[in-house]
Amino acid sequence: MRVGVVGGGVVGLATAWYLAERGADPFVVDAGRVGGGCSRGSLGWISPTLSVPLAGPVLGWRSLAGMLRRDGPLHIRPAALPALLPWLAGFRRHCTKAAWTRGIARLASLNEATMSLYDDLAASGVDFEFARTGILLAFRDRRKAEQTRTELRAVSELYSTRWREVEGAGLQELEPLLKPGFSEGFLLESDGHLRPESLTAGLAGALRRRGVELVEGCRVDGYREDGRRVRALTSAEGDIDADAVVLAAGVGTAELARAAGQALFLTAGKGYTVTVETPARQLRRPLILGDEKVGMTPFAGAIRFGGTMELSGVNDRLDSRRIAPLRDAVERGVDIAEAHSGGVEWVGMRPMLPDTLPLVGRIASRRNVFVNVGHQMLGLTLAPSCGKALAEMVTA
Ligand SMILES: Cc1cc2nc3c(=O)[nH]c(=O)nc-3n(C[C@H](O)[C@H](O)[C@H](O)COP(=O)(O)OP(=O)(O)OC[C@H]3O[C@@H](n4cnc5c(N)ncnc54)[C@H](O)[C@@H]3O)c2cc1C
Repeated sequence: MRVGVVGGGVVGLATAWYLAERGADPFVVDAGRVGGGCSRGSLGWISPTLSVPLAGPVLGWRSLAGMLRRDGPLHIRPAALPALLPWLAGFRRHCTKAAWTRGIARLASLNEATMSLYDDLAASGVDFEFARTGILLAFRDRRKAEQTRTELRAVSELYSTRWREVEGAGLQELEPLLKPGFSEGFLLESDGHLRPESLTAGLAGALRRRGVELVEGCRVDGYREDGRRVRALTSAEGDIDADAVVLAAGVGTAELARAAGQALFLTAGKGYTVTVETPARQLRRPLILGDEKVGMTPFAGAIRFGGTMELSGVNDRLDSRRIAPLRDAVERGVDIAEAHSGGVEWVGMRPMLPDTLPLVGRIASRRNVFVNVGHQMLGLTLAPSCGKALAEMVTA
C-alpha cells in the first residue's frame, strides 16, 4: 500500500516510520525541508507527566481577556482577535473540569507507551540525542506551585509516572545554577528530553536507509480524486500517486483537509525559543521556571530556553518583544551569562485544535484520507504513540 504522508515534521516522520514497520510503502512530502517546521526549535521535553490539555477549568473568558497583555506567558494579538473568535469560542467550550479530565485520560492512554517507543526507536537505529535525567520545576510563588501539583496529581491517577516534591534548598542541590528565592518545586523523575533537530534528522536518515522516499520543496495543493477516494497528491511539481494519504502538516493541515472536504478548526499557538551554542555553564537537566512558565533544556554543547503561547494567526512572524520577557525570566532565575546576549531566536507554530488534543484518524469526507494533527505543546512527546496508532488504522 503506497501511503503519501504530507508533512515531514516529527509527527509525519514518526507516522511514516510506523507505516513502514507495518509493511506499507510510505513516502513523505514536505513543502520545505524535512524537520524545518515547528518541530525544529522546540524545547524537546518528552514529558508524559506534564501531559494535560491547555483548555482547562482555570481558563475562563476573564483570563482569556487578560491574554491581550503582551508580556504574559499567554498572549492573544488584539489585531488577530476577530479571526480567532470562532476558535476561541470552541476552546472556551472545552475549558471545563469534565473536558479537562477526559483530555488527561486521552493523553495518558497515548503516553502509556511513549518512553518505551522512544527506547525502541533508539534500538532500531534511529540516531538522536536523548537523555532520561528528568525535568525540574522550580517556583517562587507557592500558589502557582499548587496549580501544578493539582495537574501532576490528576495525571498520576491515570498514568504511572514518577515525580516528587522538592523544597527550597533541595532545588539548588538538584540544580546549582538556580538563583536563590525559589520556595518549592517538583522533580519529574520519569521524564526525558531530546534535541528535536536530532530526532527529525535521525528519523529522516533511518527512513531513507529503509528506502522511504522523502520529497522536499514540494507543496501539496490538492488531490486527484475518484469519487470519495484520493488517487494522487497534486502539486506544482506534478502528481504523486497514493493508495492512502496521511495529513500531518502541522498548522498547514487545515488547508489540506479543507481541500478534501473536511473543515478543521486549527490555529497556531506560537512559541519562541533562543538557542545558545557552547554556553559557559550548563544545566544538569531541563528546568521550568514555573512562575513565568519559561523552560530551559541542556543539549550537548548548547542550551535552549523558551516558552510563551501566542495566538496571532497562522504566520511565522517573529515578534522580538515576546522574547525579551523570556530573557528577563532566565536572567532572574538562573546563573547563565548568555541570558541577555546572543543566541539564535526562533518562532514555531504549535498546531492547536479547540480541544487542545491531538486528532488521529480518518476524515469523514474521504475513504482513504487520514489526519494526525493538533499535538500543540506535546508533539515530540506524542509523535511516536500517535504515529503508531495512525499507522495501525491506515493498515488495518
Ligand atoms: C516553543 C515551543 C516549545 C515546544 N516544546 C515542546 C516540548 O518540549 N515537548 C513537546 O513534546 N512538544 C513541544 N513543542 C510542540 C512541538 O514542537 C509540536 O507539537 C510539533 O513540532 C508539531 O509537529 P508536526 O509534525 O505536527 O508539525 P511541524 O513540525 O510544523 O511539521 C509540519 C510540516 O508540514 C509541512 N507542510 C505544511 N503544509 C504543507 C503542504 N501543503 N505540503 C507539504 N508540506 C506541508 C511543513 O513544511 C512542515 O515541515 C514545542 C513547540 C514550541 C513552539
